Amino acid sequence: GPVKAVMDVVFEDFKSMRLPAPVRIALACCINMCGAVHCSDIGLVGIHRKPPMIDHEWTDQLCEIPLAVAACPTAAVRPTKVELDGKKVNSIAIKNERCMYCGNCYTMCPALPISDGDGDGVAIMVGGKVSNRISMPKFSKVVVGYIPNEPPRWPSLTKTVKHIVEVYAANANKYERLGDWAERIGWETFFKLTGLEFTHHLIDDFRDPAYYTWRQSTQFKF
Ligand code: SF4
Repeated sequence: GPVKAVMDVVFEDFKSMRLPAPVRIALACCINMCGAVHCSDIGLVGIHRKPPMIDHEWTDQLCEIPLAVAACPTAAVRPTKVELDGKKVNSIAIKNERCMYCGNCYTMCPALPISDGDGDGVAIMVGGKVSNRISMPKFSKVVVGYIPNEPPRWPSLTKTVKHIVEVYAANANKYERLGDWAERIGWETFFKLTGLEFTHHLIDDFRDPAYYTWRQSTQFKF
């Protein structure tokens, strides 16, 4: 849905070559970002805010349970047995208070769906690229922490993406990628020009090294 809605508002730009340089827009439906969203000019990332649901009927049939256990960066997943139609079957238990809603277990086990219409939303990242022209390849940074899910046309998301593209088109030099432009003018100026609000949710991406502050390993201290 968000892909179609966003493409509809930028489609003309991809036919006219009026933008200063290529603008790669990518969407990933969870923060594992298999679509190389972290190195796209504009990355849209599905944000989940509830733990996966557990489909006990299918866990033993669709999943390698040890893989799902190993996939969880916060050790929230463990094997268990549950009673189903009078029989004990192998399944999975999730310690909800440990879950950071990353969706990694779902990539290993389709019986752990994490999508939820009410809790889900989209974050916007900006400035990534794989090219080494002008500057080295770089990761994109989070510039909008959360936009609610608004099917069927995602108006807040499409408006924000279009706005970022327009401000970039009006201010960047010819052949300057979005990330190169933001770095040349400074990210502070990027936020001023775009009018996007800088909130505490964005701090990690603008502080180096953010690696140590991410809640990403089993060594995290609760
Ligand atoms: Fe673990 Fe992420 Fe699955 Fe939560 S969503 S149980 S943190 S792998």
